[in-house]
Amino acid sequence: MIKKLGCDVSNGFVVLYDGRRTWVFIDSQDPKAISKARRILRHSNAEHIPTIEDLKRLIQGKHIVAEVTGAYGVRYALLFQSLGATVSFVDPKSLSRERNRKKDVEDARLLYDYQGRTYQYEDLELELRHLVNAHRSLTAFTTAAFNRFKQALAGAVFTEAYHTLPRRKFITANYKPTKTFLQVLRLLEDLHPINETHRHLIERARYEGRHVLLILERIRELRRRIREILRQHPYTERLDRVPYTGFIQKATIIAYAWDIHRFASPDHFVSYMLVSLAHEESGQQERDRKDRKRVVVKAHLWHVYLQARKRRGRGGKEVRNPYWPVVEIYDTRISPEKKGRGKMIFTKFIDWWLRVVFYVLRDNLTYKEVIERMLSGLLRDEERLIRAVATLLRRPKLYAGHVGGRRCRCAGCRLQKNEYQLQQVRRWIEAYREILQR
Ligand SMILES: [Zn+2]
Repeated sequence: MIKKLGCDVSNGFVVLYDGRRTWVFIDSQDPKAISKARRILRHSNAEHIPTIEDLKRLIQGKHIVAEVTGAYGVRYALLFQSLGATVSFVDPKSLSRERNRKKDVEDARLLYDYQGRTYQYEDLELELRHLVNAHRSLTAFTTAAFNRFKQALAGAVFTEAYHTLPRRKFITANYKPTKTFLQVLRLLEDLHPINETHRHLIERARYEGRHVLLILERIRELRRRIREILRQHPYTERLDRVPYTGFIQKATIIAYAWDIHRFASPDHFVSYMLVSLAHEESGQQERDRKDRKRVVVKAHLWHVYLQARKRRGRGGKEVRNPYWPVVEIYDTRISPEKKGRGKMIFTKFIDWWLRVVFYVLRDNLTYKEVIERMLSGLLRDEERLIRAVATLLRRPKLYAGHVGGRRCRCAGCRLQKNEYQLQQVRRWIEAYREILQR
């Protein structure tokens, strides 16, 4: 059997544990990280690993179980692999239930003892995550650079109103520069300044224009590589069956879901994909801190939600979107005056949508098959609730022993709860039937 090491990853150092001994490896220039690692060395019986050669001797040929922690996790996964170890990751969600406070040495031990599901990071998976993240930041850079370009253009080419043209006149949907864009750049090259201010604006517009071209080129490169990886992954074809799942949404889901069998249930999958959204409704203080997680996933899935909200007209008749009946339920349930309403509806919708995605991927079903399956589950719930309501209605003293409050378990309160649930279940049945009828 391959020897195992539990590994806790921090920014700047790692703690390793082999069932008997504990080590700390520091590879940071940051004094704060170094003093934190030194503190751990002082207050535990951990040993210091001074050089990368020593680290190599310790981990070569061994199996390291670590926690996924974004960029630093990736960094150490690469480092460990390059030193001849295999690396497995633990879903952070499953570990957090077993501990209460962040303690690096204890975490390394927990990871060593961890008996649950772990998974090996694959190279392509790491690459795809990186590409999807880079795509997100580069599209944001494009917008910023393009706006600066237009500002400079307004003064540089003051005889024309190029700066008032919409973005799509300059950049195509595939991130290519349009003919107009290239024409404007040529124009800038030949332009004679009328004074120093004008000269400065022309220079600035040239520079920003070239900058935009450079970013576009990089985005096209990323997209080519993302497409290549998607072509090799079996889930690409499955995700084609989920309505309005574009190229970047598919890449995002595959980058994070890589192997759907890692997730024991749709709940696990959803909370892994969204991290903070699941906790948001309870309105804890943690919200602000946690909301920065999976920003890229949320940003990319936001587009699915926008599509779901769109209503299309065809020949004067409204064409219903395949998601609309579901969005409509949340839309009518949440009061129009509620603050942050849009985000709440998004949260609920995308939670539901990811469950659909989960079944499509895991059970290789179509969108309609998943809806049919959910519908038959609801029909069973409806039957059960009808029976429960009928039984409760036969009680002679319905409110006997009533204490009131939300927790009251008297027959009368149970009846009310069941009736409410029945009403909700029927709304969902209606929505799913509507989706299936289309
Ligand atoms: Zn009661």
